[in-house]
Amino acid sequence: MQKGNIGVTTENIFPVIKKFLYSDHEIFLREIISNAVDATQKMKTLQSQGEFTDDLGDLTIRVSLDSKKKTLTVSDRGIGMTEEEIDKYINQIAFSGATDFLEKFKDEANAIIGHFGLGFYSAFMVSKKVEIISLSYKEGSKAVKWSCDGTPEYKMEECKKADRGTDIVMHIDDECKEYLEKYKIEQLLKKYCRFLPVSIAFGKKTEWKDGKEVETDEDNIINDTDPIWRRKPADLKDEDYQKFYRTLYPGYEEPLFWIHLNVDYPFNLTGVLFFPKIKNDLDLRRNKIQLYCNQVFVTDSVENIVPDFLTLLHGVIDSPDIPLNVSRSYLQSDANVKKISKYITKKVSDRLESIFKEDRKTYEQKWDDLKLFIHYGLLSEPDFWDKGSKVMLLKDTEGKYYTLEEYKELIKDNQTDKNKTLVYLYATDATQQYTYIQNAKEKGYNVLLMDGQLDIPLVGMLEQKGQEGKEQCRFSRVDSDTISRLILKEDAQEVLDADESANLSSSFKSQMPKIDKAEFVVEVQPLGADEAPAVITQSEYMRRMKEMSKLQSGMSFYGEMPDMYTLILNSDHPAVSKLNAELKEQTAEAIKPIEAELKGLRARQAALRDEQSKEGDKFPEEQKKDLEQTNADIKAQEEKKDTVLADFAKGQDKVRHLIDLALLQNGMLRGEALNNFVKRSVEML
Ligand code: ADP
Repeated sequence: MQKGNIGVTTENIFPVIKKFLYSDHEIFLREIISNAVDATQKMKTLQSQGEFTDDLGDLTIRVSLDSKKKTLTVSDRGIGMTEEEIDKYINQIAFSGATDFLEKFKDEANAIIGHFGLGFYSAFMVSKKVEIISLSYKEGSKAVKWSCDGTPEYKMEECKKADRGTDIVMHIDDECKEYLEKYKIEQLLKKYCRFLPVSIAFGKKTEWKDGKEVETDEDNIINDTDPIWRRKPADLKDEDYQKFYRTLYPGYEEPLFWIHLNVDYPFNLTGVLFFPKIKNDLDLRRNKIQLYCNQVFVTDSVENIVPDFLTLLHGVIDSPDIPLNVSRSYLQSDANVKKISKYITKKVSDRLESIFKEDRKTYEQKWDDLKLFIHYGLLSEPDFWDKGSKVMLLKDTEGKYYTLEEYKELIKDNQTDKNKTLVYLYATDATQQYTYIQNAKEKGYNVLLMDGQLDIPLVGMLEQKGQEGKEQCRFSRVDSDTISRLILKEDAQEVLDADESANLSSSFKSQMPKIDKAEFVVEVQPLGADEAPAVITQSEYMRRMKEMSKLQSGMSFYGEMPDMYTLILNSDHPAVSKLNAELKEQTAEAIKPIEAELKGLRARQAALRDEQSKEGDKFPEEQKKDLEQTNADIKAQEEKKDTVLADFAKGQDKVRHLIDLALLQNGMLRGEALNNFVKRSVEML
C-alpha cells in the first residue's frame, strides 16, 4: 500500500475548496460525471482507432445513492486509471499562486475549478471522504483503490474490481445531507447532465402496480445523448424543433421561429435559438438561453456573451470556445466572445430578413408578438440597426403593415408640413383617441398605432435617425394638437384680437373642473366652422417625457409633473362666436373702466422698467417703490377683470357644457363632473 501527501503546495486546499466554493456546491456532480463521460469517449476513440479491439460493452454511466452508507457513487466503463495514472492525474495537482487567485475569484467556482483542473476535487465540497476504485482498460492492469478523507493525505492500495472503468464513491458530509436525497440528485442531473453524449442511468424506471410505485428492470436514463442542436438541420423537421422547445420550456407558448446555429471556423459553435412570443413582460422572459460546453450545461445567464436584446431569445448555445473558466467580467473583453456575439447578432438579423422576404404574410401575422424584441434590439444594440430597421414594421390604425420606407412613400405627399418636415401621426389607444383618429383620416392622413411598451422610445429613435440621415421628420400623437396645426401647411391666421381671445379664454378657464394631476391652458383658434367647438390636446413633448420616465430611472422628476393639456376654443364655431359676442356685450360696461385703468398702469409700468434698466444700481428707491405699487395695482385690476369674466361664465351653462363635451371626448369626464353634465343635458332638453 502507498501512502503520501497530495502534491499541493498549499497545505489547506480542502478547507479552501469548501469555504470559497460554497455558492456553487452543486456543480461537483457535473464535474464528476463530465470526467466519466470523457473517460467513456476516450474508450470509443481508442476503439475507432483500432487500439482497442474487444467489445466495448454497455457504456452507460450509473449514478447511485446508498442511504445506509451515506454515499453517492458515479460509475463509468471508460478507460479507467492505473496506479501510476492516479498518482499523476490526481495526486500531483499543480497549485501555484493559489491563495491570490482564490481571493480574486472567490465567488466564481467555475473559474477556480477550471483554472486548476480541480474538477475531481470539487467532490470534496460535499464529501468528508472520497474513494476512487478504478481498473484501467490496459491489458494486465490491476484494480486500485484510492481514498482520501479531506486532509492532504491519501491512501492507495490494490483492490478487486470486476469491470473496466472507474467508480467515484463520495461519502457525503453531514452538512450536505441534501445530496443523499433522490429528488435533489434528479434535479441536478436534469440541470447539468440532460444532454450529455453518453447515457446516464439514475436507478431504474418505476411503474405503478396495485397502488404502489415499484421499480422495473429498465434503466432510468436521464439524458438525451443526441440533442437536436448537434444534428444536421437537413435531418430535422419543424416538429423536432417544437418538441425540443417544449421539453426545454414546458408550459410556454409555441415559439415564432428558430435558428439553427452551426459554425466551426473561426470558432466552434452549435445551437438552436428560438424567438418566443413576447407580449409585454420583457424582463420575465430573460435568461432562458442555456449555455453548454460540449453538451455539459454551464449556465443559463448569458449576459456579456450575447448582446442584451438577444437574452430575450430562448434556446441553447454550445461552444467549447467560450472561455467558461474565467470571470464574468473578463468574458466581455474576450476576442472569441466578441466574435461569437457578432455572429449571433448577424444570424438573428439574417433569419428575420429571410422570413420577411420569403413569407411576408406570415411575418406580418407574427409581428405583434415579435415587435417588442425587435424594438428592444433597435434601441439597445447599435449593430442591429442596419438590418433590424429593415425588418421593422409599422402598423396603422386600420391594421395594415408597412416597412419604414414603404410608409414614408405613403405619407410623403400629404403629410409634409410647410417646413418640409414629414409628420408621422400616431395613436396610442385606438378607442380613447377615436375622434382624433377620425379627424385625421378625414383629412386624408394615415395614423399609426403605437401601443407597444417600447413604441415611445422608438419614436424618439426614429426621429433621431431621420435627422442623422438629413431627413426631417417628427412623430405627433393625433391629440397633440388641433388637426390643422398637427401638420401645418401654411401660416395660421388669427381672427379674434388678442384682448378678445384673452377674455374668452379667461372666462372658460374659470370654469375648468379640478382634475387630479392635470393642468389646463385655454386658447382660442380659428379651426374652421365644421370642426368641433372645443377640443383638448396634450403636449407631445411633456407626454413623451413622462412616458420615458416610466422606463428610465433618473427621469422620475417628469413622472411627478402634472399632465399638461390645452383646451382649444374654435372661434369659427357658431356656439363659440355667439358666446364671445354675448361675453363682449354683457361685460363691456364692467370691463371698460378696468381696461382703461390697466392701460394707464401698464404704460406707467413700461416707463418705470425702461428707466430701471437704464439706470441699473442708480435707480432711485422712490421709483422702485412706485414700480412695486404699479405691479400690485395691475395684478389687482387683472383679478377684478377675471372676476367679471368668471361671473359671466358662471351664468352660462353653455360654457361648462362645451368644456364637458371636450373632456368627454377624451375620457376625462368622470364622477361628479360627469353626473352634473348628464343632469345639465337633460335640463337643456
Ligand atoms: P480535468 O478533468 O480538468 O483534467 P480533473 O481533476 O477532473 O481535471 O481530473 C484529472 C484527471 O483525472 C483527468 O484529466 C483524467 O485523466 C483523470 N480522471 C478523472 N476522472 C476519471 C475517470 N472517471 N476515469 C478516468 N480518468 C479520470
